[in-house]
Amino acid sequence: MRISLQLLLFHCLIFSGCRNGYYSEKDFGSLTKIDSHVHINGKTGYFEEIATEDNFILITLGVDHGDSANISRQHESAGYSAQKHPGRVFYGPTFLFDTAGWGTPDWSSKVISGLEKDLSQGGITVKIWKNIGMTVRDRSGRFIMVDDPGLDPVIDYIKGRGLPITGHLGEPRNCWLPLDQMTVSSDSSYFARNPHYHMFLHPEYPSYEDQINARDNMLAKHPDLTFIGCHLASLEWNVDSLAKRLDRFPNMAVDMSARICHLQYQSAQDRKRVRDFCIRYQDRLLYGTDVGDSGNSDSEQFKKSMHATWLDDWKYFTSDEEMTSDKFRGRFSGLKLPKDVVEKIYYSNAVKWYKLGI
Ligand SMILES: [Zn+2]
Repeated sequence: MRISLQLLLFHCLIFSGCRNGYYSEKDFGSLTKIDSHVHINGKTGYFEEIATEDNFILITLGVDHGDSANISRQHESAGYSAQKHPGRVFYGPTFLFDTAGWGTPDWSSKVISGLEKDLSQGGITVKIWKNIGMTVRDRSGRFIMVDDPGLDPVIDYIKGRGLPITGHLGEPRNCWLPLDQMTVSSDSSYFARNPHYHMFLHPEYPSYEDQINARDNMLAKHPDLTFIGCHLASLEWNVDSLAKRLDRFPNMAVDMSARICHLQYQSAQDRKRVRDFCIRYQDRLLYGTDVGDSGNSDSEQFKKSMHATWLDDWKYFTSDEEMTSDKFRGRFSGLKLPKDVVEKIYYSNAVKWYKLGI
């Protein structure tokens, strides 16, 4: 009896992978992880090299900065990397939101034929960006929001291909506050550098609520669309608010890219609330960083900084160490999430939501 119990325990340990424990820093390299939001914009291979060393798979996403040559370059780098590193790099293209012809059926036909081509090398999603809602306007000068019926044929096409849409819509709520009231310095420095995106300075633009409502309306119109909301779906400031949207839209998941500091900021105030949120929504959260490689960075410096970012985030999710951030004052403790939750956030959620063939 005693022997068989020991055997049973042995089998549990081997075959369950000790799922009920916690990871530590020494496990960082051994778990295969996915950074679900990066931008590979060059052919240097630095990103892919450090990803291989640190056991990361990368999902590189296109961004519509309103310049078709730039989008082609991004697409070429992403396609090149995905072809050269099958199973290590996956890509999701974007499309140029050209307002010429907006409102005619030709507009969506042109976008769809472009996507047809750009998805053909194995694209896993289509990325849409905050220019929808914040930059593009129709002929009357009205902002084109993401729930505009003019976008429906494109959304239906992506859905029809069985692909998710990855959407960075709106901005952090800080964007609508004065610089000195923003909660994290990554936002205050970004908006100080990009005053054209600092909505506090542009009250004539759609409000934060307008952005969130337009996204919610779009999801309500397309309940069968799989949607991955970038940057905690622009609800980074409050896990309860995000929880409400996740409850309302079961086909929505979110990536945490560039917003982990907002979870840490909330952890400093109420760690249990953030930890409980991560456990409750463990099937809906995807790890990501939003780091981009322009192709001009110094190889060693880039790899060192990428490794430090990944390791720092790993410590936050896996340990209960007391930590500080360079983005806000105050201390917070790591979330020390159970192993199976960490595995979902770092790997299996991205595989499932993006239907990665791995
Ligand atoms: Zn990004």
